[in-house]
Amino acid sequence: MGFDELSVSDALKETLSCAVSSGRFPHASIFEDEDSERLKLTAVCVATALVCTGEGEKPCGMCLGCMKARSDCHPDIRVFTGGDTPNSFKVETVREIRSDAYIVPNEAERKVYILENANNMSAQAQNALLKILEEPPESVCFLLLTPDRNAFLQTVLSRCVVFSQGGGRKVDEEAVAAAKAFADALPEANEFSLMSATSVFEKDKALLRAVLPELEEIFRLAVILKSGGSCEGEYTQQAQKLAASQTTVSLMKMMDCLRDISQSIDRNENYNLLITRLCADMRRASGR
Ligand SMILES: [Zn+2]
Repeated sequence: MGFDELSVSDALKETLSCAVSSGRFPHASIFEDEDSERLKLTAVCVATALVCTGEGEKPCGMCLGCMKARSDCHPDIRVFTGGDTPNSFKVETVREIRSDAYIVPNEAERKVYILENANNMSAQAQNALLKILEEPPESVCFLLLTPDRNAFLQTVLSRCVVFSQGGGRKVDEEAVAAAKAFADALPEANEFSLMSATSVFEKDKALLRAVLPELEEIFRLAVILKSGGSCEGEYTQQAQKLAASQTTVSLMKMMDCLRDISQSIDRNENYNLLITRLCADMRRASGR
C-alpha cells in the first residue's frame, strides 16, 4: 500500500512521502489519529517505505522489503502493543525495545519500531523510552501511535516530530503571528530584522515553546513546495517565500535548529543566550 491509498488528508500524505524520500526520516515520531485502524495502516505504510529497497517512490510495493512488510514478516519492522487501558504499556516492554534497538538491522537500512497504544505508556515507561530518544542509534526509527499527543510527557513530545491526521493542531493565534513574523524576517536575513522578530520571545518562554512547532510547520511546507508539491492554508505565503529563497538542505538544517532549540528549552539552558543562538543558527543555516 502506497501513501496515495491511505485515507488520510492530502497534506499528511505529502508530508510523510516527503519525509521518507528526504532520506532523513526522524528517529522519533508521533502519529496522532483518533481512528486507530487508520493510524495503524499509516504507520505500517511508513514502516514499509522505510525498509523499501526499490528505486524511485517508496514504498515501491515490489521489492523484497515491501513484500515482507506486507506479509508482516519483515525482520526489521517490529510492532509492540500496549493494552487498552492507561499504564498498560509497561516499562518492561520499553526495556525490551531498548535493548533490541542497539542491535544492527537484519537486512534493511534501518529498524522500525511501531509502538501501538503508546498513549498508554506509564510515566516510568515514557522515561525509559526517553533515554533512547535522547540519543537514538543511527539506524532506528520509533513510530509512537496515539489518538492524542498530549498523552506524552513534554520531554518525550519535544523529541518527536508529530504527524497528525486530526487537523487537531491547536492554533494559538499569538504563536501563529510570531511564527509568521519570524519566517518573514528570515529571507531578509539581516540581523536586525531577525532580532526584532524574536524580541517578543524575550520575556515569554511559553510563547517561544508554542512558536517552534508552528515554525517547523512552515519549513515543512516550504520543503514540500521545493519538491514540487503544493500547500495551502495559513502559512502559504511564508512557505512560498522560504521555498523561493532557500535550498532544501538549508530548510532541513533550519528544522534541525528548531528541534535543537526546543530541547535546550527543556534543559533549562540560559534563555537569553538561547534566543541569540536561535537567530545565529538560523542565519548560518540559511547560508548568510
Ligand atoms: Zn519496495
